[in-house]
Amino acid sequence: MTTSDPRKMLKQLNKKPHKLTRFKKYNLSKKRSCGRATASCTRCGRTGIGGFVGQYKLKYCRCCFREIAPKIGFKKYS
Ligand SMILES: [Zn+2]
Repeated sequence: MTTSDPRKMLKQLNKKPHKLTRFKKYNLSKKRSCGRATASCTRCGRTGIGGFVGQYKLKYCRCCFREIAPKIGFKKYS
């Protein structure tokens, strides 16, 4: 059982209700209503905690920020 998205397993487990409830409890990620984990890049949609630029209300991931930064007006001094 290796899937990139654990929700793909729900299709198989629909006929096994008890296993389905256990699978939902232990394997699916918890849905967040607030916090850093809910932040997503406005350009590519990447989610996650690592490398998110929310300063000055930019809302870009680190990769998109690196590409866009010179166009926006940021300069690299070092
Ligand atoms: Zn991005």
